[in-house]
Amino acid sequence: MLCNGPRPERQRTLGTRSASWLAPALLCAAFFALRVLEDRRPLRQRTAPAGPRLLRNAATGALAAVTVAVPNALVTRPATALVERRGWGLVPHLGLPPAVRPAAALVLMDYTLYLWHVLLHRVPQLWRWHRVHHADADLDVSTALRFHAAELAWSVPWRAAQVLLIGVPRRTLSLWGVLTLAEVMFYHSNLRLPLRWERALGGLLVTPRQHGIHHDSVAAHQARNLSSGLSVWDRLHGTVGPQLPQQTLVMGLPPGPEGRA
Ligand SMILES: [Zn+2]
Repeated sequence: MLCNGPRPERQRTLGTRSASWLAPALLCAAFFALRVLEDRRPLRQRTAPAGPRLLRNAATGALAAVTVAVPNALVTRPATALVERRGWGLVPHLGLPPAVRPAAALVLMDYTLYLWHVLLHRVPQLWRWHRVHHADADLDVSTALRFHAAELAWSVPWRAAQVLLIGVPRRTLSLWGVLTLAEVMFYHSNLRLPLRWERALGGLLVTPRQHGIHHDSVAAHQARNLSSGLSVWDRLHGTVGPQLPQQTLVMGLPPGPEGRA
């Protein structure tokens, strides 16, 4: 009897600890798998050596991640706690079966991420920071790490508002973060998928060819293909970009005033 007491708690602690390492480990594995695959099946020709860009983009991403860790802990996590404690937000009031609520929250999080991406391009104060992501001379999986710390800092209050308005508990928010990061790495990658696969996947998710158009240095193209997970939001809002051969695209900022902050 005495020995039985602490065991469940200890097992739960160990289980939680191993689960907390699982997602980062899987994301790292996915990153390096994409990095290998895009060298084997490149979609676009590189204009700069991959190594220095990878280091620069990883350093930029690491700085941004460290910068937002504290505001996220102070703002976003308490927001999820409020949702859990007080039942705030839309999803808990839709009358959905409990098993369906996380899926509804994930879809609404993805939709509001689309809206955030629209703002990043349309509000000059936000474009000033998002342009750092678009300034990459090539587009590959390392571009998925290239976000200015200020852009991520601006996203913290937006994320907290998403959580409170949609009603997102902590576990669903963590799941959304992992799924979104995996998808962001996938469609930034320079991976040439068979066209059949792209077409089949593109009806549901953003693909490397779709997002390649968004990173073309033509300003009109950067205002298109703004979805960040599910591809349906571009179709709903009429922001689907043209289908162009990827080899004709020039990654980077638009020349002239449109590329400036
Ligand atoms: Zn963008």
